[in-house]
Amino acid sequence: MERAEIVRWLKEDDPEKLQELYSMACSVKRRVLKDTVCVHGIIEFSNYCFGGRGSGEKYRNDGCLYCGLRGGNSNLVRYRMRPEDIVSLAVYAANELGFKMLVLQSGIDFYYSTEMLTEIIKEIRRQAKVLLFLSIGERTRIDYQKLWDAGARGMLFRFETSDTLLYAALHPGGKLENRLKHLRMMKEIGFILASGPMLGIPSPWPEKIPDQTLESIADDILLMKELDVKMATLGPYVQATGSLLSILRPEVKYADPEIVLKTSALTRLAIPRVRIPCTTALEAVGASVGSITLIRRRALRAGATAFMTSLTPDNLRRHYALYQGKNSVQKNHDQSFAEVIDLIKSEGGKLCGGFGGKNDLTKKDFGEGLCAVDH
Ligand code: SAM
Repeated sequence: MERAEIVRWLKEDDPEKLQELYSMACSVKRRVLKDTVCVHGIIEFSNYCFGGRGSGEKYRNDGCLYCGLRGGNSNLVRYRMRPEDIVSLAVYAANELGFKMLVLQSGIDFYYSTEMLTEIIKEIRRQAKVLLFLSIGERTRIDYQKLWDAGARGMLFRFETSDTLLYAALHPGGKLENRLKHLRMMKEIGFILASGPMLGIPSPWPEKIPDQTLESIADDILLMKELDVKMATLGPYVQATGSLLSILRPEVKYADPEIVLKTSALTRLAIPRVRIPCTTALEAVGASVGSITLIRRRALRAGATAFMTSLTPDNLRRHYALYQGKNSVQKNHDQSFAEVIDLIKSEGGKLCGGFGGKNDLTKKDFGEGLCAVDH
């Protein structure tokens, strides 16, 4: 798909035409990935964040302007899970609940040294057959290699926006070029990349730098293709209490979910085999403008292939407050699974093989990535 065509579709607001776009995306999904839907688990093990540290730069405590976890947000209750608790939760999720892919996510928290993380990964892999993704921000190539050697196979690491000026404005001391360098490094080591943009991002200084444009979203799609991203994570911007953007742009509460659905469908057309999760941010916006079930259904119909469910212990989950409504739409794991599974069935989808039962992953699955046994 050419950039101009992508931009044309992003500008489209005729519901009938958009229906055509979503139908095209769905038929590509069905042809290349069948109707299988995966449910992935995410363990948010620490909400400490020294955000904005680029490699070789000093720690910057202010962090990303959009994020509620930024170091400068002193109103947030901070927590860290103990390594043994991370291991036992991951092993339980894999062996008892049947998750085949788990993401271990945190703010940029160097309390967890690379050595500590490698021990956690090795122990989980020793006790369970599960595909492990990490989402821990920027580290060095040597660190990434150690994490790979320990058995992690995927990295969830968004580039946030392909607009260089907007990126720099949102990440004090950070450069898009540096973020992309890290993504390429991860790819070279062999990690499966889960990446993408946040959508509908306001600029902190709109008089100098425009808000995210539709043209730059088209570039985001092309960038995901160029990076050979296997999972496109497309989340709407949602205002976060305690973030700098909530002060600088208080009028922007959240992005229009339609832009996320259009971008999902266009990403499906541009990168047919890509996996697309219905992100928790999309669910949060969906819940505030209508219903969570409706937005999940619409996401599947726009080409999504997976759901992300937070496995973070109930007493900690509400403190992982990236944005307003984060993790509050999910009341508890069991209820959330049941709702997602009912929805997938009602859409005629099949759960990714093995989910809900004991794991039966083979070496090949780890090599080919994600939990795609029957895709
Ligand atoms: N520290 C890791 C990193 O740097 O990639 C992962 C954690 S980070 C908090 C996870 C993602 O949350 C970010 O990549 C960003 O896209 C998303 N996020 C943060 N604040 C958000 C907001 N206000 N609205 C929507 N998504 C947000």
